[in-house]
Amino acid sequence: MSVAYISHADVGFHDTGWGHPEHVGRIRAIPRALRDDPELFGALTHVESRHANDDELGLMHDPDYIAQVRAVVESGGGRLDPDTVTSAGSLNAATAAAGAVLDGVDMAFDGRAARSFCAVRPPGHHALRDRSMGFCLFGSVAIGAEYARRKHGAERVLIVDWDVHHGNGTQALVENEPGIRFVSMHQWPWYPGTGAAEDRGPHDSVWNIPMAAQLAPQRYVDALRKGVDSALRGFKPDLIMISAGFDSLAGDPLGAFTLEYEHFEELTRWMVGLAEHHCGGRLVSALEGGYAPERLGVACVRHMRALL
Ligand SMILES: [Zn+2]
Repeated sequence: MSVAYISHADVGFHDTGWGHPEHVGRIRAIPRALRDDPELFGALTHVESRHANDDELGLMHDPDYIAQVRAVVESGGGRLDPDTVTSAGSLNAATAAAGAVLDGVDMAFDGRAARSFCAVRPPGHHALRDRSMGFCLFGSVAIGAEYARRKHGAERVLIVDWDVHHGNGTQALVENEPGIRFVSMHQWPWYPGTGAAEDRGPHDSVWNIPMAAQLAPQRYVDALRKGVDSALRGFKPDLIMISAGFDSLAGDPLGAFTLEYEHFEELTRWMVGLAEHHCGGRLVSALEGGYAPERLGVACVRHMRALL
């Protein structure tokens, strides 16, 4: 059983500046933490991702928006919106981030690695069809879900988002396709302000789980499990994807959930079991938020261990 660790050097060239919470130190913390676990390091299949091309980005984004990002980046970078900064390396970073998810999907379906973790940035789950939002340029996980449907004939995909923020971009990109179900647990009220429990999308294919800050950690674990169980009722996915934001860890500067490493291990093991039960173990996980770099690195390592 192989688990792929997918990344690309280019994700380190999306330069937002050290004063920005989504800085390059986040991604550097992951291989640093991984080196402290040589057994896991040796057990993972290390993959350098490809870059998603314009057709692949176009599965979920307007060509005009892709062209706009390219123009800003080629001019040396700049602000796409009040929160989302780009530099000269940002397009290569964002296309590598999406490409990593596409590689994870390919590997899950061709048997090279049923499960994978994509150590990538910028994150993607706030990005909308025609604009950036909340540090996110392209909706990598949503693109991966649609790609699995088009390229590999997946009829049903389940996306689970445990980032502390509502995955509003992912919801907007997938909610019109009933073959993709989306579960997001997030702090409420909190950025970006969307994701009420009553918001089920036009096909009732969205499960939003808004949660108060500072609850006992098991409350979050139980709520997410309940939401996922509900989403799986009468729905046997061909692929499960995780928007793995670790800003839901206790102490994160951009969130106030109380989850610890062991809770992510529990959730990961449980989701591996669901993937084994429903879809031959196929599970693609991609990093979203997580703004305390050292803890983010450890959380990713523990997550990958549980994937293995
Ligand atoms: Zn987040």
